[in-house]
Amino acid sequence: MAETAKNFFGSYAYADRLTTVAYPEKRIPQIENARQFPFLIFDGDDPHKGLRCVACQICEKECPPKCIYIEKSKDKKPDYMGKAQYYPARFDIDIAVCMSCQICVEVCPFDSIKMNTQYELSTHDRFGALLIHVDQLAKSNAHYRAIHPTEAAEVDARLAAEKAKAAAKAMADKEAKAKAATAKPAVMMVGTTT
Ligand code: SF4
Ligand code: SF4
Repeated sequence: MAETAKNFFGSYAYADRLTTVAYPEKRIPQIENARQFPFLIFDGDDPHKGLRCVACQICEKECPPKCIYIEKSKDKKPDYMGKAQYYPARFDIDIAVCMSCQICVEVCPFDSIKMNTQYELSTHDRFGALLIHVDQLAKSNAHYRAIHPTEAAEVDARLAAEKAKAAAKAMADKEAKAKAATAKPAVMMVGTTT
């Protein structure tokens, strides 16, 4: 009671004694490690073209309450490294069941799924409206950087390093092939003279 009285009277003089906010007019800013429900990251401007998810379905298998539903595409499209990959023809998450455990994020090998901080998702339709589809789940990498800057910077640096490594390997393979192609006629010529 003493603490409550201190906060009540003190709040007229000191801002830090005001321990509540007048929600929904005011909101407490979300901390960087806050997590609510998952979202899917896309690179660039086009959510369909840039979606990182390759529909490997690991998150679907590992999700404890089984609230992720994925259908793999029949065709492939280039991923962020230009490699042809499958993509999710369907990717839904039932947020009425999701328990925000983040296991889907931990098991994803492609940094495709991360936790969003959005929490005002209540609805009168408890059946259809809480099944979130791929178009609603897709958020840009810029959104990820805005809500989890430290984590996003680490992921961006790692993906850039992987991309540079793959480009260097492709260049080395190309040079080795070109070298082998120029060396072949010389060997044949040696064989012809002997
Ligand atoms: S946060 Fe947990 S419960 Fe929710 S979709 Fe991911 S794995 Fe499933
Ligand atoms: S979000 Fe990650 S783990 Fe889940 S299907 Fe897509 S690539 Fe695989």
